[in-house]
Amino acid sequence: MAEYDTVLIRYGELSTKGKNRKDFITRLFRNVKAMTADIEGLEYTKTYDRIYIKLNGADADVMRERLSKVFGISSFSFTEKIGNDIETICACCLELAKSSGKETFKIISKRHDKSYPMRSDEINRAAASVILKNTDLKVDVHEPQLPIRVEVHRDCAYVTSEKIPGAGGYPAGINGKVLLLLSGGIDSPVAAYELMKRGLQVEAIHYASPPYTSENAKQKVLTLASMVSEYQGQMHVHLINFTDLQLAIYKTAGDPYAVTLMRRMMYRLAEMTAEKYGCLAIATGESIGQVASQTLESIACINSVISIPVLRPLICMDKVEIIDLARKIGTYETSILPFEDCCTIFDPKNPVTKPTIRKSEYYEAAFDYQTLLQQAMDAMETVRVEPQKETEEFL
Ligand code: ATP
Ligand code: MG
Repeated sequence: MAEYDTVLIRYGELSTKGKNRKDFITRLFRNVKAMTADIEGLEYTKTYDRIYIKLNGADADVMRERLSKVFGISSFSFTEKIGNDIETICACCLELAKSSGKETFKIISKRHDKSYPMRSDEINRAAASVILKNTDLKVDVHEPQLPIRVEVHRDCAYVTSEKIPGAGGYPAGINGKVLLLLSGGIDSPVAAYELMKRGLQVEAIHYASPPYTSENAKQKVLTLASMVSEYQGQMHVHLINFTDLQLAIYKTAGDPYAVTLMRRMMYRLAEMTAEKYGCLAIATGESIGQVASQTLESIACINSVISIPVLRPLICMDKVEIIDLARKIGTYETSILPFEDCCTIFDPKNPVTKPTIRKSEYYEAAFDYQTLLQQAMDAMETVRVEPQKETEEFL
């Protein structure tokens, strides 16, 4: 096996040019560094289309795990930095081929230094003929078992065989800040992941109704926040005490409209919080038709109380797809822990599926919800969660 000493990182969705490209690379570079900050000895370099990390003995498996979570990376490879003379390149390719245990190969070279004395196809042929002469491997240009990639630079070359898919998307945080309504359920943590993947920095807001909801339920939400914060570094979670509003709603509106009114209040509080913290949109884990409050009529009625944009990354996804994603990002097992949510605690038996704005306003006129909203805002607590901090007690 060749001695890999460097990770080579390729960028993702770089259709943009100029300043946007520069911002993309600068942000990605910063995120890569932050994600690997605790690993000793790494040396980072960035160029217009690559980031290189010299490993200096760092554990490749840990690096692989960390980098696979950084949005904006299209792929990465462990590679060896060698001299760029053709003899050294051929020897390195041969070593890779010999130790691979594969039967077919193909050399794919790319010159970053166009003044290099050989063209790419000449480098391909030179390295291939050395392998053909010294091993039993055959060339397969269409589906090689071992694609060997050679990058030739002005002062060095990189040889690599494995191209590991990156997380794709945009570097976390590059597209601005959004406030996500985070419950303890399956959907909203997946929504967080999807938003982060589009380069949004996610802050969360959670509504709890103590003593009807327990400390465990709150901790579960913080655990989920900590899990998804791995994709952006850390996360602020704003905790709202929703008890008084909820009790007032139940007293005034009764069963069928309770959920609609509750969600209208959640949206109002989210808009106020987003404004306070400079988030340009709010987001939810809603998916059309999933429950009574997620019919188109309900969404329209609930959405009408605010004017800030609402992002709903899961809106057209099936529950099965959402669960698959929850498993992939590791939140599913925590999400299904049976702690009560403020929505389930009063659990209306007949929630209205086609609420109207007129009726909602009629119920809302019967109590001073503005004061209750302001009181909830004034009592809001904000905590900062870090990746993997609160996770253990729930595993
Ligand atoms: P989830 O699995 O995310 O809890 P759900 O299918 O249970 O979703 P609802 O309870 O109707 O659906 O919630 C829809 C969305 O409203 C959630 O995805 C979340 O964004 C938000 N939400 C619900 N309850 C809360 C809460 N207690 N605090 C913050 N946001 C909430
Ligand atoms: Mg829920």
